[in-house]
Amino acid sequence: MTKDKTAFVREDIENLKEQGLYITIRTIGSAQEASVTVDGKRVLNFCANNYLGLANHPRMKEAAKKAIEGFGVGPAAVRSIAGTMALHLELERRLAEFKQVEDAISFQSGFNANLAVIPALVGRDDLIFSDELNHASIIDGCRLSRARIVRFEHRNADSLREAVERETEYRRRLIITDGVFSMDGDIAPLDKLADVADEYGIPLMTDDAHGEGVLGRGGRGIVDHFDLHGRVDIEVGTLSKAFGVVGGYVAGKREIVEWLHQQGRPFLFSSAVTPADVAACIAALDLLEESTELVDKLWDNTRYFKGEMKDLGFDTGQSETPITPVMLGEAPVAFEFSKRLFDEGLFAMALGFPTVPRGKARIRVMLSAIHSRDELDQALGIFKKVGQEMEAI
Ligand code: PMP
Repeated sequence: MTKDKTAFVREDIENLKEQGLYITIRTIGSAQEASVTVDGKRVLNFCANNYLGLANHPRMKEAAKKAIEGFGVGPAAVRSIAGTMALHLELERRLAEFKQVEDAISFQSGFNANLAVIPALVGRDDLIFSDELNHASIIDGCRLSRARIVRFEHRNADSLREAVERETEYRRRLIITDGVFSMDGDIAPLDKLADVADEYGIPLMTDDAHGEGVLGRGGRGIVDHFDLHGRVDIEVGTLSKAFGVVGGYVAGKREIVEWLHQQGRPFLFSSAVTPADVAACIAALDLLEESTELVDKLWDNTRYFKGEMKDLGFDTGQSETPITPVMLGEAPVAFEFSKRLFDEGLFAMALGFPTVPRGKARIRVMLSAIHSRDELDQALGIFKKVGQEMEAI
């Protein structure tokens, strides 16, 4: 009999299940709207990152269809090998304009953008100062670089300064912070971090995945929110949240982008996103630049929903953005809460360890411009019912 060589994987899976940490992935059978069909059932959608409702927007779909007619469905190879489509260059030029920086380079995802830029800038013998709650893709990018990672306290510029002064052995240094922290919805004190970065001459990088289309004038992001144009050296972004499509990018000085064309490994060794994706992203930029209506609606919805949740007695943590954590303690409680919400017709995911620290499990509600007041009220009614049943309020 052959030995069961992967039995350890089954054991690991069983362990996860026993700890109540096993993730069940739901199947969506419809387009991303305020309601979606999940596992065959129509439910209110409160867990997508579709902040502005662009994922199924008619203008986006029209742009994608036109791009397919003109450019086909795939880029056919890596850009540095088979050439780059004019559409990708147009998107990058438009992104740079939107972010008010010199240049931008797109990637297949925000995750890949982090994996590209961090190892391209720092390596062995270098130091990265990283907020202790930075996103997994930043952490992985840091690990891949082989630089030494020095974590500073979450959102604490004094802790960063102390680490910078303490660590004196290095070749190069880099400071990295998420802009909006995706699990708690709190915002990095980018202005204070930029003061430290400027004082010590260290490049500053931020990941604006959840700030894009949300913070700043017309959704221009966290740098615009703090009016720090020209002081943040590297901005990573994603096209898969407010932009409603898929992809990522790095925006900043021309030399950074030029370097990533030479050294960004996901750019050099993986094909780009499709023409349809790119054209839809350009349409998203058109929409954002034409009007602030969607961003304004997102914030109206956010203020209303969070205010009402607090009045109901829920603990919504430290959020300052449309990301609304509903803190519930242990993971099994959060998973049960999510299941009951679903039974009542509301789709909102529970997050437990390792996505969030142990004992800090939660439902993460994601608000969107696409929700009507009536849908918000329905959601609040469901939260109230389940919250009372589970004695969370
Ligand atoms: N950075 C942050 C802060 C994120 O929240 C995410 C998505 N969860 C990413 C990067 C990755 O973006 P993408 O989905 O485009 O890979």
